[in-house]
This record gives sequence, C-alpha cells and structure tokens, in this order.
Amino acid sequence: MTRLYRYAISVFALFALGSWGFFAHRISPQLATYYLPKKMQPFFFANLDKLVYDSVRPDVRRNTDPKEAPRHFIDFEVFGDSAAWKMPEKWEDATRKYPADTLYKYGTLPWRVQEMQLKLTEAFRQQQKDSILYYAAEVCHYVGDAHVPLHTSYNYDGQLTNQRGIHALWESMLPELDIAEYRLNHKHKARYITDPQHHIWEILRNTHVLVQGVFAEERKASESIPDSVKYRTQIRNGKNYQYYTPVFARSYSKRLADEVQHQLVATAEAVSDYWYTCWVNAGKPDLSAIQAPSESLRADLKKEKKAWRKNELLAKGLLRARKGER
Ligand SMILES: [Zn+2]
Repeated sequence: MTRLYRYAISVFALFALGSWGFFAHRISPQLATYYLPKKMQPFFFANLDKLVYDSVRPDVRRNTDPKEAPRHFIDFEVFGDSAAWKMPEKWEDATRKYPADTLYKYGTLPWRVQEMQLKLTEAFRQQQKDSILYYAAEVCHYVGDAHVPLHTSYNYDGQLTNQRGIHALWESMLPELDIAEYRLNHKHKARYITDPQHHIWEILRNTHVLVQGVFAEERKASESIPDSVKYRTQIRNGKNYQYYTPVFARSYSKRLADEVQHQLVATAEAVSDYWYTCWVNAGKPDLSAIQAPSESLRADLKKEKKAWRKNELLAKGLLRARKGER
C-alpha cells in the first residue's frame, strides 16, 4: 500500500468514526420506550421523535466542541492488563491513580454516563420537560457507545492491525445491512439500577470482552476473500477512499452471528434501565402533569407496540430511525 493510500484511508476513518452509526443510535430510544412502566411510557412516546433525532447530537457536537470526543470511548488497553476490571470506577479515585490529562486523552465514557444520569435525575426532580428530554437523549447516546466494542479499545479502528475501517463496518454498515433480519421485539421491563456508577463499568466489561472476536472474525473472513472483493475504492475530492464491500460485510456479519443485534437490544434495555432509575431517584414525578397524553396518542402507542411485538416495526414503516435518516 502506498503512503498516500494509507493516508486516504485514515482520512476516511476519521469521517467514519462516530459511535454506533447514526441509524443504530436512533433505534435504542424507540425500543427503550416500550420497556418503560406505564407511568413513564406515554411521556416518552409523545416525545419519541425528538429523542430519536437528538440521540446522535453528542456525535454532531464533536465537530464543534474539542472537549466532546473523549466522552465517547475509553481505551482500556492503555491503562494496563485487564484495566476494565482494575481501574478505579469513581472519577476522584481514577484521577488519584492517573493524571487527568491521560484520562481525557484515552477517554472518559464511564464518567460521562454517570454525569448525564445525575443531570437527568435532576431534570426529573425539577420536572422540566426540555431538560428531561435533553438529558434522556444524552444518556441514551453514551450508554449506546458503551455497548460498542471498538469504543473500549485503543485499536479503535483496526489501525494497529491493518484492519482500518472496521469501526464503521461493525457499528454502521452491519446494522444498516442486516436490520430487516434483526429481532427487535425482545421483551424487557426497565429495571432499577442500584449503583448506576458501577453499572456502566459492568456494561463496559461485557462490551470489552467482545473486542478480540471483532478483530479475529475480520481476519478469518479475510482468508477466503481477496482484497479486490473485500474493498472498494471511491475517489472523493481527488483522493482515494477505501471501504469494505457489502460482500465482505455479509461474510463478516455471518461470523459474528447475532453480536451486533444483541448489542443493539442490550443498549435499549440499559437505556430504559437508566431512564427508569433516574425517574425513581427523582421521586417518581408525575409525568402526565408535565404533558398530559391525549387519547389519540395512547391509541398510536398501542398500535405501535402491537407492531413491535410482532417484530414488524420496519415492515410497517414504524421504525423511526429509518424515517429519521438524513
Ligand atoms: Zn458517540
């Protein structure tokens, strides 16, 4: 590979690096709403389009706010062997062990989730609709990032193992390609999280154990697929950009079995658990006093949940992530 080619690929990688692709990020608020108790569900349902739309805002913010990027990941390997299990979970303890600069450089995702869930709790307490929706979308985004294996690794785009582009392949291309086959009707009831700070670490550990497989399966899929089929090149602004092809993505997806779907559903479950926990910790404010649900809203919710239970959201044009694509 020429140096220019490598450069072009790395530029593409920069563009591609978000977090769950926009599409996947936008699925979790919708599913999470279905898992909520009756006292919360109509409020979230009434504002679902906004939550879906805003669930990617933290990624958009990266373009304008230099402080934003490290909030979306944590490069565990940098902090030593089994760091995901050994690092201090609280920010105060972590900053005693590592310089704050190092933490900001290699990612602050677990602490960002903690910060946002406290803000959401406070918003519920104040019963301020705009703040509730704002922080519910923020929690949704960062909890989503915590379910993406490559958001927990220093080798976040395969740049150390000649697997550049794997980040967007796993989190954007695969869900886009496979969505019609996903089972999105998994049942879950929002659960109370006793220790939200500790809980995000548990989630990150479960995510981090997937990292090795994410790379290994790419290598195995590559054994039977030549580079000419594996990649396609596109010229943009006079530069070559290299992407994985759908043919390769399908082969890779088969090897991963239901990993991406599982992480997507696990994201939605965790989001509902966090939303619910914040609401409980705020003293279970009456959300119908903030926004009274109309009869037609209740009817729409019922109809949508019926389609969801049959896993027909996509087929019936009710998957909001699909509608909200830009
Ligand atoms: Zn993100």
